[in-house]
Amino acid sequence: MEKKIYLQKIGDLNHLILKKLQTDLKQELKEFIDSVEILPNNFPLDNSDFRVKRNQYYGTSLLKKFELHIKNKNYPNTLGVLNRDIFSLNKSNEPTRYVFGIARKIINSDSTRVALISIIRLKEDFYKRRRKKRKERKRILKEAVHELGHTFSLKHCKDYCVMQYSNSLAEADEKPAKFCQTCSEKLKNSIENLS
Ligand SMILES: [Zn+2]
Ligand SMILES: [Zn+2]
Repeated sequence: MEKKIYLQKIGDLNHLILKKLQTDLKQELKEFIDSVEILPNNFPLDNSDFRVKRNQYYGTSLLKKFELHIKNKNYPNTLGVLNRDIFSLNKSNEPTRYVFGIARKIINSDSTRVALISIIRLKEDFYKRRRKKRKERKRILKEAVHELGHTFSLKHCKDYCVMQYSNSLAEADEKPAKFCQTCSEKLKNSIENLS
């Protein structure tokens, strides 16, 4: 079976960003997967998920809708990418200030492997600073690899590893785009078990 990852645009997003991410993911994950494909069209944002006071989308609800869409279309391993700010709920069910990404928790082998990342806070212009294109592209790659790691059951890791938890740009910049040895082996097993 071909090991493939799908990318889906959510709402308005510059297509070039997805193209670059596709190239970067292919390169970064080449020892784990065979191909990265961009799905046609875009998955629309739902106004009911927008929280006016926060000026953010409720990521958890968005992820649920996206998951249903992925399930109906029968796409395994899909990462949605959006350019809007999102928040989710933490373990105590309180809303977080923001998140870079969220992944569907894998409960059993039937769980849909789906995640999303928001690129808006990974770009310097969000902070009214000058663009740093190379750095921003790297951040997007890291957050994508991280969330995809979750969809293959990887948990947060304390080693020098892309699975390090990051909730600030400094943390995102500090971690590598690569998996540590342990996570890399776990990921290989998890992917092997699919086929
Ligand atoms: Zn994480
Ligand atoms: Zn690790």
